[in-house]
Formats: sequence, structure tokens, C-alpha cells
Amino acid sequence: MDVVLATAWLRAIAESVDADADELTKLDSAIGDGDHGVNLRRGFTAVTALLDGTAFTGVGDVFVRTGGTLISKVGGASGPLYGSAFRALGKALPPGPAVTLPDLAGALRAGLDAVTALGGAAPGDKTIVDAYRPAVAAFEEAVAGGAALPEAAAGAARAAGDGARATISLTARKGRASYLGERSAGHQDPGATSTWLIFQALADVTAP
Ligand code: ADP
Ligand code: MG
Repeated sequence: MDVVLATAWLRAIAESVDADADELTKLDSAIGDGDHGVNLRRGFTAVTALLDGTAFTGVGDVFVRTGGTLISKVGGASGPLYGSAFRALGKALPPGPAVTLPDLAGALRAGLDAVTALGGAAPGDKTIVDAYRPAVAAFEEAVAGGAALPEAAAGAARAAGDGARATISLTARKGRASYLGERSAGHQDPGATSTWLIFQALADVTAP
């Protein structure tokens, strides 16, 4: 992955978040406070402005600054969580204009570790982790098996989608939705859904 591909991924996320903001907000209205789409749209609009106005020193720099922008622009739980994830992802990458597939796999794992360190969510708690964790596992497995980026990204996107859909039956144990207890079951988690969008965007921009 080079700087051009990193920025293309982030622009694709911004487009997808913008197109699906109403859907994310609808999901968050059912089990939260109805701001997830608005939160992420605000954040990734700011990320797009960052990309337009910055000469980056390397791939890691793109993600570190993206993370900082999300932390400063997005309210709610998801801003600090996604912001920390992108920052950790960027910091885990070696410096330079391009990184290898194993570098990227390790960095995605570092992003997940940042989310769990900050939010304390375990698998099955109906959060971002329920899409992010299987996505990283699928990405790592594909890379270990010698897959190229398009295949690894497609596998990660599929796993994130499966994980997001599987949150429907779960009872939330973290975040705002946990206040509803068992009434949170029967609804797809908004954060797991936006994580799916993020991995789908990587699959889309790398698809041959
Ligand atoms: P808020 O809940 O503050 O309104 P958002 O609506 O932007 O923030 O984001 C809600 C999403 O954040 C949830 O759907 C859930 O996936 C995710 N989330 C909340 N708390 C945590 C946590 N501790 N760990 C991981 N993800 C979390
Ligand atoms: Mg919310």
C-alpha cells in the first residue's frame, strides 16, 4: 500500500459514509441516540479536507493524521474509537511511501488492539469489535496464505459483513445500547455496520 492507495481508501470511506449516513443514523436511532451517521459524516468530511490540503510524509502519516482528525471532529463513542484505531494503525507502520501486506496486516491488528484498549469491549458485546475482529483475522489469514491485497481485503470485508449482521441477535454490553439491556437484541449494531463499510471500501478500491 502506498500513499495514493491509502488516501483512495479514506476517500472511499468518506463517500460510503456519506451515502449510508441515513442508514447508520436509523440503526443508531433504534438502540442509541441516532447520531452515528451524522458523527461519521462530520468526521470523514474533515478527513477529506485533510487529504486535500496535506503533503504526507508516508503511509503511516496519512493514517496518524486521519486518526487525529477523527478524534478532534467526531463526538460520541465512535470518534475516539475510530480515531485511536487509525492513529494506532499509522503508528504501527514503518516510515516511508509504501508498506508491505504483512505490515498492513500488523497495523490493522494494532488498530483493533487500540479499540479494545480504549473501549474494553469483548467479542459478542455488540460493538465495532464484532466486525473489526473477524475482519482482521480474515485479512491475516489471507496474507499468511499468500493472497494479494484485493483478495485479503475482499475476505476482510466479507468477514466484517458477517460480523455486523451477527450483531442483530446480540444483547449490547458496551456503549449506549447497553442501557437498553435485552431490548437491544433484534437490531444491527451501528458501529459494527460502519466498520463493515470501512473494510468494504478497502475491498472496493483494491478490486481488480
Ligand atoms: P454514541 O454512542 O456516543 O452516540 P456513536 O453513535 O457515534 O456514539 O457510536 C455508537 C457505536 O459505537 C455503537 O454502535 C458501538 O458499535 C460503538 N461503541 C460504543 N461503545 C463501544 C466500546 N466500548 N467499544 C467498541 N465500540 C463501541
Ligand atoms: Mg450515537
